[in-house]
Amino acid sequence: MPASATTIPGLTVVDHPLIRVKLTRLRDERTPSPSFRQTLAEIAMMLAFEATRDLSTLPVEVNTPLAAAPGVKLEQSVIVVPILRAGLGMVDGFLRVLPQAAVGHIGMFRNETTLLPESYYFKQPAHLAAAEVIVVDPMLATGHSASEAVSQLRQHGARRVRFVCVIGCPEGVAHLRAAHPEVRIFAGAIDGRLNEKGYIVPGLGDAGDRCFGTFG
Ligand code: URA
Repeated sequence: MPASATTIPGLTVVDHPLIRVKLTRLRDERTPSPSFRQTLAEIAMMLAFEATRDLSTLPVEVNTPLAAAPGVKLEQSVIVVPILRAGLGMVDGFLRVLPQAAVGHIGMFRNETTLLPESYYFKQPAHLAAAEVIVVDPMLATGHSASEAVSQLRQHGARRVRFVCVIGCPEGVAHLRAAHPEVRIFAGAIDGRLNEKGYIVPGLGDAGDRCFGTFG
């Protein structure tokens, strides 16, 4: 990780030994799709913990078999928004710890010539404006898709948006921060650089292809 990554405002690199071990499996080109999907879901679940650490709660009371006990519930509902395709691989992990969350979808593919995102699908729950919105995509590469996704969500009324990726790079973080400085970013790692094709190096390759087995 570049020494500066931990000091970029608005960026939290979730540095945990279990995430580092699982990231190693994700990066390994020998890891087959079933194992890749499972590991991606496990990392997503761990990132979900950190990305939701500051969610506000309201007091509630429940009865145990013995007595009344104080507890809490989340104040705001949560919407998890994967950027298709690869973001789908993070949804299960998030829903394991946020089973009540709604799931919106944003379909975008990268034009391999311009490296810019082209949008083909946008479907969100009606309570977008009132919810905590968590956009998920395993790779924060150029930052264009992430930034466009947040712009679309804002145009449709979202007020509180955060972004979670497994691997980012300085260029992607800088682009998203410049376009949407209020959006907090959570990442499992920040790698060194982007190559000329817009892939993160060393990264893990094409997250969508590796998740869904669509090679060649
Ligand atoms: N998308 C990917 O799947 N991998 C990258 O390295 C960059 C963008």
